Amino acid sequence: MSVTKEQVMEQLKTVMDPELGKDLVTLNMIKNVALCDGMARITVELTTPACPLKDKISFDVKKAVTQLDGISMCEVEFTAQVKPSPQQQAQDANPLPNVKHVIAVGAGKGGVGKSTISVNLAVGLARAGAKVGLLDGDIYGPSLPTMLGLDDLETHTAGGNMIMPFEVHGIKSMSIGKLVDPDKPLIWRGPMAHGAFNQLATQTQWGELDYLVIDMPPGTGDVPLTLAQLLPLTGAVVVCTPQKVAQDDARRAVRMFQQLQVPILGIVENMSYFIGNDGVEYDIFGKGGSQAMAHQMEVPYLGGVPINMRLRANSDNGNPTANFDDDAQLGAELDAFVKNLAGQVSIQVHKTQAQTPTISIS
Ligand code: ADP
Repeated sequence: MSVTKEQVMEQLKTVMDPELGKDLVTLNMIKNVALCDGMARITVELTTPACPLKDKISFDVKKAVTQLDGISMCEVEFTAQVKPSPQQQAQDANPLPNVKHVIAVGAGKGGVGKSTISVNLAVGLARAGAKVGLLDGDIYGPSLPTMLGLDDLETHTAGGNMIMPFEVHGIKSMSIGKLVDPDKPLIWRGPMAHGAFNQLATQTQWGELDYLVIDMPPGTGDVPLTLAQLLPLTGAVVVCTPQKVAQDDARRAVRMFQQLQVPILGIVENMSYFIGNDGVEYDIFGKGGSQAMAHQMEVPYLGGVPINMRLRANSDNGNPTANFDDDAQLGAELDAFVKNLAGQVSIQVHKTQAQTPTISIS
């Protein structure tokens, strides 16, 4: 007797999404089951193209389906549909209705690599297949023109009072650094900072985006407050270096976002360690402190990015794509962080949906 699609679906109820804690059928992730001569082809829809669990899900689906008598081979094909955050859908006057997730990248203090992490997060998500924007919200010290190589590009308006984002390295981007004289110091009083950030975020023609990554100013000033009031944030990433003093600052940044009701998507440890030419790992600043802090604060740990000369050089040269293409180990480390973050966004959506009460009217 040949196997039916219903039997395959029944069997797929035994395959769990390990992050979301439910089976693939309940999560409505099985989009197609095709059967032919003992061969099954299953189409699984992921919640992000940068899913960290693709390989595991593929393995588990194949294992479950080939357990059925009459199926000797199983192929798994993936599609991805980023679901918007419930906060984004719930906000009546959302100034960016076509952006599914707004992700803030913050740090307790400057110089820890917040802009570097923001850039590589945005480029990494885009390389996985997502539509990504990157906003230089660090209005006091914009780094994106250098890190993305925007210096020689002209700014274009898009009609009305809108401005076109720059499209480089597979992402859309905007920076105050392209709108003001780069040699003048950027001094903003509170209300001016609020206005500048607001204009950058809402008057850029972003179009449809899966993720808008925002490189925040360091510390706990006015801009995070403006951001939390203005845009429905899915969550925040806090960048930290391993030293104890850096963690004290990062802890304050985490508490600030929590006070603003912004979920913490995770902590990333930058400059985590260094691998010398001898292949030996040197923990210059004492690797692992951020992970311990994340554990203690009960927030996710997203991984560590090593000190890497190429990363610094590629940032100075405005070529972040090279971080992924030219150094296999660095690319893999960045990819792991990017995927962990994308996974946390999906978990956040799932958690918020589960918490949102539904009202049925009969
Ligand atoms: P922040 O935004 O926190 O002020 P940046 O991202 O601008 O910090 O980084 C400061 C400097 O350190 C930059 O020159 C950047 O290229 C360099 N840098 C950041 N992270 C790393 C790293 N992991 N390895 C090597 N250089 C790094």
